[in-house]
Amino acid sequence: MSVILRVLLLEDSEKDAKQILDELEKGGYIVTSERVDTLILMTAELEQKTWDLVLADYSASRYSALDALTIFGETGLDIPFIVIAKQEDEQLAVEAMQKGAQDYVIKDNLVRLLPAVQRELRETEIRAAHRRADETIRYQAYHDALTRLPNRALFIDRLQQTILAADRKTVNVSLMLLDLNNFKGANDTLGHHAGDILLQQLASRLRASVRQSDTVARMDGVEFAILVNGIDHHKTLSAARKILDMVEKPYLVNVNQFVLSASMGIAFFPENGTTVDTLIRHADTALQAAKENQGGFVLYRTDQKQKSGKKIALTSELYQAIANDELTLNFQPKVDFKTAEIYGVETLVRWNHSEYGFVSPEEFIPLAEQTEVIQDLTLWVLKNALEQHRRWSEQGIHLKMAVNLSIKNLMDPSCHCKILKLIDDFNVEPNVLELELTETTMMSDPAAALRKMEQLTERGINFSVDDFGTGYSSLSYLKRLPVKVLKVDKSFLQDIIRDEHDAVIVRATIDLAHNLGLKIVAEGIEDRATWDLLQILRCDMAQGYYVSRPLLAENLVAWMENYDEFKCEHALS
Ligand code: C2E
Ligand code: CA
Ligand code: CA
Repeated sequence: MSVILRVLLLEDSEKDAKQILDELEKGGYIVTSERVDTLILMTAELEQKTWDLVLADYSASRYSALDALTIFGETGLDIPFIVIAKQEDEQLAVEAMQKGAQDYVIKDNLVRLLPAVQRELRETEIRAAHRRADETIRYQAYHDALTRLPNRALFIDRLQQTILAADRKTVNVSLMLLDLNNFKGANDTLGHHAGDILLQQLASRLRASVRQSDTVARMDGVEFAILVNGIDHHKTLSAARKILDMVEKPYLVNVNQFVLSASMGIAFFPENGTTVDTLIRHADTALQAAKENQGGFVLYRTDQKQKSGKKIALTSELYQAIANDELTLNFQPKVDFKTAEIYGVETLVRWNHSEYGFVSPEEFIPLAEQTEVIQDLTLWVLKNALEQHRRWSEQGIHLKMAVNLSIKNLMDPSCHCKILKLIDDFNVEPNVLELELTETTMMSDPAAALRKMEQLTERGINFSVDDFGTGYSSLSYLKRLPVKVLKVDKSFLQDIIRDEHDAVIVRATIDLAHNLGLKIVAEGIEDRATWDLLQILRCDMAQGYYVSRPLLAENLVAWMENYDEFKCEHALS
């Protein structure tokens, strides 16, 4: 079999060149060649084309073969460089070999040329194979095979390099750790192969959501790390939001749609640590806090560390609290924007702890959700809410009762039976009860959520989507779920008077929801200006401190007795 050989010849004699090439062709090579006779031309040829071999005549007058070797050495090319010398130059040819030439051949004895070329080409090939193997090994040692992202080892190395290079005064470095909340669900329903595809899609989304100079790594399992360099804290937060938005957009795997939800912890250099270890540890502490919130991102704060002791204590005490009726319920009214009539109340649980005092539900509900306590807690809330409803009915007060449901409650196989039994026990109409489920948890496994919700809506119980707007879900997708009401998250309303962007989002949400036949509740209305704006935007219902804070049952009755004045001032007609 003939082999093509691309030869660069440094030779000032045309005749000698022909002799050399003939010799090579005799050996069966198909030779393509270029003859040059200056170093400048040689350099240009080496830079512009690919060569298999350089042959240099030693005794030319227009250049020095030793200089040629130096230039060749600087190119870093690994191809044979063979010197062709006259008999009397043999000593110099040896010197050339010491300078890096692979071999020399005497001009008058060209029979040695062919075996020398063959041997050197073979060795070059072996060296190239070793190099490729080395590169592969190095790549594998520092990359994750599935996603091709840098692995933990490379990430730590990059973080170390970044810290060493960073100037503490001027450079912002942020470390983000990201974990998936519901990947196990994906693996269980879609299978492991599809789970792998999902992770690959996720990896490329992460890569695409940051700059080329940022590092995205797979730390292990479903934990990813992102190293962002040179942007201030404020921009880091919008970058984090953008990353989470990208991650939480639906994935299409083998015609199945899947939504992932993620938690993220963020630590800043140098504020939260100046070593690799502390930065990673602190980002991880923040990540655990984000997981307790069931998603979103959390910045590291020094008090997060100490919380874990209290956290363990709280979880075990929560059981006691439920058993001993240490919990109480607050009720916060929802009123109609048009008529300002009272529509119903949202039931909010309160815990007055003997040692810590008032513990916020934002603190203990996530803990309850991590354990089975949430099942008992929700049943306790439902039972007491319905009991309260019956008492009010007896006094002639008829209010819809909203109760917050955790996704863990919904997925519990016995949940719907227990809820239906309570409704029977207290003899209330099922449509009195409205269950609020947050948007993000609902979308973590929409198909399963849909089935479970249907079991309850069939019996007349209604669902609302809580904290709408904080996760990613398209309204058209939500339309397939049996929900009638969206509660726009209070974060959109907090600043709506000043922030035009929020106002645009809320207006679009209201219009779209109405087109889909859904009603909108605005929660967190704190002042008249916000009330007026939402009334103009044709929002359906209001909830917030401006109307009333959450109240104990007896205080709510007193509040209702004095409500007429507010109603007259706020009703549209
Ligand atoms: P959520 O369901 O979004 O409840 C609304 C929260 O907003 C309540 O906080 C309420 O007090 C507060 N809020 C109402 N109006 C305003 C306002 O005008 N301004 C501001 N800044 N806040 C307002 P709360 O009671 O601390 O509850 C926090 C979260 O804890 C709730 O958020 C809900 O996710 C959870 N939660 C509360 N009770 C229960 C429960 O019984 N079961 C479950 N699963 N979760 C509960
Ligand atoms: Ca709620
Ligand atoms: Ca809410």
